[in-house]
Amino acid sequence: MTDLRELYQEIILDHGRHPRNFHALEHPTHLAKGYNPLCGDRVTVYLALDGDRIVDVSFDGRGCAISTAAASLMTEVLKGKTVAEARALFARFRAEVTGGETVELPEALSEDAERLEPLTGVKAFPVRVKCATLPWHAFEAALKGGLEGDTVKTE
Ligand code: ZN
Repeated sequence: MTDLRELYQEIILDHGRHPRNFHALEHPTHLAKGYNPLCGDRVTVYLALDGDRIVDVSFDGRGCAISTAAASLMTEVLKGKTVAEARALFARFRAEVTGGETVELPEALSEDAERLEPLTGVKAFPVRVKCATLPWHAFEAALKGGLEGDTVKTE
């Protein structure tokens, strides 16, 4: 168990220091900003959708290690997914970090859910839950708002 926790810690630190897909998209179809006033995290999520498929996703901004790692891991799992798959992953992830009722996922998404596992440790630290879910809320806002770039605040 300790080994697993250490591995998760390593993954979060790695993504916090060297975030993946950390840049603005040149031609996004959707974008939105997220702001977490509790911690000061700011993130902008960029999406390029083709129909209902996420062909590209990226982010930038400034935040703590948790929010940066969460955004980085999120972009990794969302690339190539359909909007419905992405929303299912968010529902599952949110349930895991808030201690909500478990959301069943189709078999095809179980590997992606596993890749998000390292972050689920934040459920022991309620203040950090918003850091971990912020990029996902920005993603959801981007889907709804297109290119308006609205800012969504965690409450
Ligand atoms: Zn934070």
